[in-house]
Amino acid sequence: MRLGLWMAALTLAGCLACRQGDISAPRAAESGTATALSVPSDTTASSPTVQADGPTTGLNLRVPKASQKALAEPAFRTARYEMVERTIGPKTPYDGRPPVRDPRVLEAMRWVPRHEFVPAAYRRFSYADEPLEIGYGQTISQPYIVALMTELLKPKPDDRVLEIGTGSGYQAAVLALLVNEVYTIEIVEPLAKRAEKDLRRLGYENVFVRAGDGYRGWPEKAPFDSIIVTAAPERIPQPLEEQLKVGGRMVLPIGPQYHQELVVLTKTAPDGQRPRKAGNGLVREVVIPVRFVPMTGEIQKVGKE
Ligand code: SAH
Repeated sequence: MRLGLWMAALTLAGCLACRQGDISAPRAAESGTATALSVPSDTTASSPTVQADGPTTGLNLRVPKASQKALAEPAFRTARYEMVERTIGPKTPYDGRPPVRDPRVLEAMRWVPRHEFVPAAYRRFSYADEPLEIGYGQTISQPYIVALMTELLKPKPDDRVLEIGTGSGYQAAVLALLVNEVYTIEIVEPLAKRAEKDLRRLGYENVFVRAGDGYRGWPEKAPFDSIIVTAAPERIPQPLEEQLKVGGRMVLPIGPQYHQELVVLTKTAPDGQRPRKAGNGLVREVVIPVRFVPMTGEIQKVGKE
């Protein structure tokens, strides 16, 4: 019965992906079911063998040694495995959302301690499938959305990825396990500083954090294999598409406040061979409706697409 209620709560939560400022996780998780369930035996079998700061066996994940103490905390570990089983992966009960299937992405979700990236007051809700407030009016996205966006990027071990909207640093940490280098930009300086500190403390040495407006990207490190934007612009930021490799993918929510579509853009032609208008030379695929915090800064001043 308690499990049934928990599922109903998740189904409702699933309708809106990255809801801002709506902290319903405490209600959902107070039932205790999030952590009361045991780790299924097959998930233990699929755990990578962690080598000192090196890749993990088979799935080639870069789990930092410094994060392993946090990963070993039993209640959180159980909750993290349950989160993947019940709200992200292919065994998820059908709720209208596409399940995430990439085994590397699912394993990365099991091997990043989300509870280290949320404020102490919300720690016990870390593995509920909900966004949580992280201060300065911002949120850490819900785990399902982090996993889905990561899968849509098609991350490969040699990739260099740009993230706009560092927030807590959690999404960057998930990517850090899957790719070679992550460059991430956060417009709220105290958030950038805190995320950088947390990422350092937990050993994510292949993540580079910059405080500033992500609209202009990170030209010194361009081009990128993929770009993820975790705040919603109303149109495609043109400098970012220019910093994407041909064949590269940009995953972002696009649309007005609270009513956006999660979109995958694939760059099909080099910049010089594309009409100047933003969006040309990009194949656009709409995934699901989402709700993200708005992308602020220069994008709000530039002309319409
Ligand atoms: N990826 C984050 C969640 C981010 S929420 C995580 O895993 O926790 C979106 C973030 O984008 C907020 O922190 C917000 O401050 C930031 N943001 C908004 N506009 C931005 C811009 N122009 N450049 C960089 N960051 C921006």
